[in-house]
Amino acid sequence: MEHIRIETLEEFAKANSVPIMQKEGIDFLTNYIKENNIKNILEIGTAIGYSAIKMASVCDDIKVTTIEKDKSRFDLAVENIDKFNLSDRINVIYSDALTVDLTDTFDLIFIDAAKSQYIKFFEKFDKNLKINGVVVSDNLSFHGLVEDDSKTNNRNTKQLVKKIRKYIDFLKENKNYKTIFYKLGDGIALSTKIIVTSQSKCNKQSQ
Ligand code: SAH
Ligand code: MG
Repeated sequence: MEHIRIETLEEFAKANSVPIMQKEGIDFLTNYIKENNIKNILEIGTAIGYSAIKMASVCDDIKVTTIEKDKSRFDLAVENIDKFNLSDRINVIYSDALTVDLTDTFDLIFIDAAKSQYIKFFEKFDKNLKINGVVVSDNLSFHGLVEDDSKTNNRNTKQLVKKIRKYIDFLKENKNYKTIFYKLGDGIALSTKIIVTSQSKCNKQSQ
């Protein structure tokens, strides 16, 4: 087996402008996986396999399914995952996530693909998340532009920022999930799937 270090992937990503997760964010995510005994993970947006490799490396019995729509990135991811000897635990699917149909259920879904499509990803894969499972969303700060978009005049960027704000509102209003926002890395949300029982829908105060 060819040996490779995780730093090599970080350097490659930097040199080739591949937007892999920032250190603070990936540390938070892998820590969450460890602390909460997460075993089955779905990732939307593989890029070159960096975050999938980091997540699968937390524990030997973790399985990751990850989807990437860009062929050259998919090829690199498969190659990298093989170099880390993780091909039996990381399944990379070459497809647009919006056209894949998965029947498995997961403990954690990590959304890290096209920022304009987050609501669609969330709604599509809701059925694949276990009760008490968690959706982790990355880049909700988008280089600080979500909090303050005066730093850009680019129309497409402004449009994207609007969509991310819409997604944040969508998470806040979603009654089936409890979301906590973290100002870590490029902004992360953790949304836990809860059961809304008829009892908890009632606002009447108990006597
Ligand atoms: N999670 C990776 C980084 C992902 S970058 C890491 O931290 O290491 C986002 C990736 O999502 C890009 O490679 C892009 O090609 C992919 N992507 C964007 N939209 C997608 C879609 N609809 N389906 C699948 N992949 C998508
Ligand atoms: Mg990201």
